[in-house]
Amino acid sequence: MGGIGSGRRFQHRGPNLEEVPQLDVRTLKRNGLFDQSTSNGSIKWTNSGLPEAALEYAYADSTLCITYAVKARHTASNVVSEHIFIDRAACNYGGTRTWFLCPNCNARKAILYCASKRFLCRQCYGLNYTCQNEVYPDRMIRKARKLRSKLGAPMDLSQPISERPHGMYRTTFERLIKQDQDNIKSVVGAYSQRLMSNPKQTR
Ligand SMILES: [Zn+2]
Repeated sequence: MGGIGSGRRFQHRGPNLEEVPQLDVRTLKRNGLFDQSTSNGSIKWTNSGLPEAALEYAYADSTLCITYAVKARHTASNVVSEHIFIDRAACNYGGTRTWFLCPNCNARKAILYCASKRFLCRQCYGLNYTCQNEVYPDRMIRKARKLRSKLGAPMDLSQPISERPHGMYRTTFERLIKQDQDNIKSVVGAYSQRLMSNPKQTR
C-alpha cells in the first residue's frame, strides 16, 4: 500500500501544488465532517496521483486528528498523526465560515498541503502555483524550506535544527546543517538588498 510520498513524481524535484496531497476544509465541511460534535472515518485523496493513499480521521472538541502513512525515498513508511484545530469565524453577512488553523503558523487556512510529513499551509511550505513569479528573497526562502522539509525540521527559519533524521549519516546531517546556515544567510542578505534598493520603504 502506498503512503504519502510514494507517488511517482514529486520525490525528484520541488513539489508543485497540483502534485501534493491536500485537505480542503470546505470539501470536508460539505461532506458533513463537522456536522456532529464528534465523528470519525477515512478520507480518500481527490488529487495528486496517490490512488491508494487515504487517511483516518477523528473529529472532536473542534480538533481534527488525522493519521496517515508517509513514505520517504528509500525508507519504510511511517505512520504520522497530526492534530488540526478547526476554527469557526463569523462572516460579515451572517453565518460562519470554517477554517483550518495551520499546525505550524496557526493562521486560518482553507487548504493544507502535505509536501513532507505534515499537513501545513502553502506559506509554511513555501509552495507556489508558479515558480516564474518569485522574486529573489522568496526563492531563497523556498530553497531553505525545501531543505528543511527534507530534514523534517521546523519551517520557521529562526528555529534551529536539532534533530538528525533517523537513518541519516552524521556527516550528511552536518553538511545539510551547513547548507541550511548558508541558505539563511542568503535569505537575510536578499532581504537587506531589497530594503537598500527601496530606501523609501524603510523607516
Ligand atoms: Zn502555516
